[in-house]
Parts: sequence; structure tokens; C-alpha cells
Amino acid sequence: MASIEALRDKVRDVPDFPSPGVLFRDLTPLLADPAAFAGCIDALASPWHAAGIEAVCGIEARGFIFGAALARRLDAGFVPLRKPGKLPPPVVEVEYALEYGADRLQATAGALQGARRVLLVDDVLATGGTLAAAHQLVGRLGAGVAGAAVVIEIEALAGRARWPCDVPLHAVLHY
Ligand code: IMP
Repeated sequence: MASIEALRDKVRDVPDFPSPGVLFRDLTPLLADPAAFAGCIDALASPWHAAGIEAVCGIEARGFIFGAALARRLDAGFVPLRKPGKLPPPVVEVEYALEYGADRLQATAGALQGARRVLLVDDVLATGGTLAAAHQLVGRLGAGVAGAAVVIEIEALAGRARWPCDVPLHAVLHY
């Protein structure tokens, strides 16, 4: 398995993107490297092999890349959580606050069929608003969240504080 340091070497830091003062963690070099991509999926999957995960929900857009690969590794189905207007009806949605304004996440009604062990996946945990909204959306779909997996947790932004503390949340890389 690729070492954590080898994975970290494949993350590119981009200052002032997408706006001044923001340090963007770019995962495309990691995805482009076969060993690093495989090692990242191994590391994402390792806490969850015996967790009885029934479905993986990936958050648009980069959560689809990691989530779909992780779903295959865990022998689970994959359900996309999408930005508004992308999925055909019927959909269930949740609105959540951004720094400026609000956004929504949607999923296909009935997609989780009452699953009790859903794993949420995204690339980066920053302020935690997106992952908390995804948790709420899965609840509205009548399903239960077993945990969450992210590639990167940006600890200074304290996103974990918005996540229910009794539900496991695992990050591969911590910044
Ligand atoms: P949060 O809601 O503030 O936790 O932001 C998380 C969402 O923003 C995720 O869906 C990420 O894809 C995206 N995001 C935030 N910061 C970064 C970054 O540095 N690199 C890539 N995506 C990021």
C-alpha cells in the first residue's frame, strides 16, 4: 500500500484559488498516478471493510470519483448526491448555508431503499457544511448513516465539529 507521505506528495497546493486567500488542495495529480490512486482507495476503504456498508453516497463532483471506486472496493452500491437540477424527478433535497448564500444537494427519492449502513464520501472536509448537509439528506431519504470517509481533512477549519460526534468520520490525510 502507498505510504501516507507518498499520497501527500501527490496533492498540489494552489494558493489563491478559487479566490484570493484560499489555499486549494488539488487532488488531480494523485488521481493521475495509478499507484497513488489505488493507495488512496485502499486507505479510504481500510476502516470500513467489516462495517457492513450497504451503499456509498458520493458528493458532487469529486466525491463521485473517490466514492464510486470505494463502493466497488466495499462491494456496495453507489448513490450520487447532486447539485440542484441534475437529477430527474422525483428528488429529495436539503438546503445548506455557504459563507455567502446557500446551496442545495439532491438525491433520487427511494435510491437508498431504507439502507441502515450508508457511507458518505467526499474529497475534502473543510468547514463541514457539505458533509453535514449530506448527512441530513440521507436522513430525509429514510436511510441511516454509518459514517463518512474523506481524502483530506483541513483541521484548521474545524469541519469535524459540525459532524455528529457519535458517527465515525475517517480522513486519509490531515492538514
Ligand atoms: P465544506 O462544506 O466547507 O466542508 O467544503 C467541502 C466541499 O468543498 C467539498 O465538496 C470539496 O470538494 C470542496 N473543497 C473545499 N476546499 C477544497 C480544497 O481545498 N480542494 C478541493 N475541494 C475543496
